[in-house]
Amino acid sequence: MPIKILPDTLINQIAAGEVVERPAAVVKELLENSMDAGARQIEVTVEKAGLAQILVRDDGSGIPKQELALALQRHATSKISSLDDLEQVATLGFRGEALPSILSVSRMRVTTAAAGEPHGWTVSGDGSLGQSTPEPAAHPTGTTIEVRDLFFNTPARRKFMRSEGTEFRHLSLAVRRAALARYDVGFSLVHGGRKVFDLAPAAGEPQMAHRVGALTDPEFLAKSQFIDEARMGMRLWGWMGLPSFARTQPDLQHLYVNGRAVRDKLLGHALRRAYADVLHGSHYPAFVLYLELDPAGVDVNVHPAKTEVRFRESARVHDFLFAAVHQSIRRLRPDPAQHHHAMPWAGVRHDSPDPNPDRANPVHGVQERFPLAGIGSGYRPHGIASASLARPADAPLGQALGQVHDIYILAQNDYGLVLVDMHAAHERVLYEKFKREREEGGLASQAMLVPHTFSVTDDEADLAEQAAAELKALGVELDRIGPQTLRITALPPLLASVDPTSLIKSLLRGAAEQESRSHFSELADAQERILADMACRAAVRSGRRLTLTEMDALLRDMEQTERANQCNHGRPTWVQVSMAELDRLFLRGR
Ligand code: ADP
Ligand code: MG
Repeated sequence: MPIKILPDTLINQIAAGEVVERPAAVVKELLENSMDAGARQIEVTVEKAGLAQILVRDDGSGIPKQELALALQRHATSKISSLDDLEQVATLGFRGEALPSILSVSRMRVTTAAAGEPHGWTVSGDGSLGQSTPEPAAHPTGTTIEVRDLFFNTPARRKFMRSEGTEFRHLSLAVRRAALARYDVGFSLVHGGRKVFDLAPAAGEPQMAHRVGALTDPEFLAKSQFIDEARMGMRLWGWMGLPSFARTQPDLQHLYVNGRAVRDKLLGHALRRAYADVLHGSHYPAFVLYLELDPAGVDVNVHPAKTEVRFRESARVHDFLFAAVHQSIRRLRPDPAQHHHAMPWAGVRHDSPDPNPDRANPVHGVQERFPLAGIGSGYRPHGIASASLARPADAPLGQALGQVHDIYILAQNDYGLVLVDMHAAHERVLYEKFKREREEGGLASQAMLVPHTFSVTDDEADLAEQAAAELKALGVELDRIGPQTLRITALPPLLASVDPTSLIKSLLRGAAEQESRSHFSELADAQERILADMACRAAVRSGRRLTLTEMDALLRDMEQTERANQCNHGRPTWVQVSMAELDRLFLRGR
């Protein structure tokens, strides 16, 4: 075939392949145009998940008659006119591709009225405008775009459509994402004549929070923390889900960069790392977060659907996001005042004064007053005398009353009853202690009286050699004394009574897994995994009987330990049952 220039409609259809993947993408583009046009109210009405019809109506600026035909042409946009504009772009659109692409694969009608015009205009076409010209039409200031029979002329694409249910899930997500980007705009969605939601413009945090709840998960608000952090010329605000609200799928993750919903590997990694300490590997955090920075530092023109961005200073952005979220997680502390069994733990809200400022800055020294003994002797703090002193104001988790089936600790505090999962809680305390020791120069190590020798596979021995230096920093000293033989000479004292063979094998498995991970695997990731593993092994096992003094000491350690309210797997470590709840159980005071 000789080379020739393709006809316009075909060029637009090819572009549509990238921009208009499915009905949800049409809705996304139309919503972006409405928001760019300054709309205050946007109505989305669809039939058959958008495959039969999509109608988006707004009260934005409208399109003047003389620009109407242009708006439907490729590379025609009112939003930028130079490369400089592109670098500072503040609108969601800028490529001038959406309307012509959508038109090329559907039957489309645009009806619009610009402010100050006596009436509106309408124009329509099937696949292309052809000879049609704008005709007068009644329409208030704003624009209505109707898209029918999507992909009617591209049967191959139509075949890729999934079930109506799936397509509608995507479509509704597109509307929800837009509604979470612009609280000042009202949004409604109607599907098959049924109202899915109708949200008035939201002003102020309570109304914004209400919208978040309505568009994500009704439980999300109660299980999240509002944050607002500004540093290094960047700002991060929004709601971060508590670790105990982790999900088995990444289905509640909304991240915006300068008002644009993005999927970004770099930012995703920063968030994963920030939660890594408190989430089990197979769980995903939930969040609705907004990152704001100078638009000149963000390249939005890297993907036709504009869902990816590139940062000029990616390391700074990564570090800021990581630090902001990580620190907020660290600030979440046991707070019985806000703590009841439906909401296992709560944090310090940024917008209210901390009711207990002491606890916002933990005194690590207290940890040292109750050094933990090895598990061989159970959980036995040395500072027994101090632990038994009642200091109620400093003891929000209260005094231990006893153990339930040797798994839970039962305690009483000012608010009522406290239940503690003793293994999970101790594991968390130890994990944070190990991490602190590492930050302060390395974990304490104790030479073994008799070095422990054991056999492993070649691979394990190789790994052990590679990881030897790293393990040493964590208090584990070992060397290879044969092709398949390892020898441990020192361990952290807390691990003295753990079976060394299974400990090392498990640590090596963790290291191997880390090795095969993506390029994101960092030394810190590997070490933290190992520390988590060590903490789990050193923590008091369920089934061990503790004395009241030991239980009280654990409660005190929990209060002083950062993030003591969740274990390494994101499960809560303690719950509060208030007096009011107990009264209710017994129908008292009615
Ligand atoms: P882009 O958004 O990248 O500019 P589009 O093809 O999506 O490209 O839209 C082309 C132009 O049509 C826009 O630049 C804008 O001027 C106009 N337009 C599209 N939709 C609307 C709308 N809902 N209200 C006002 N103007 C609109
Ligand atoms: Mg657009």
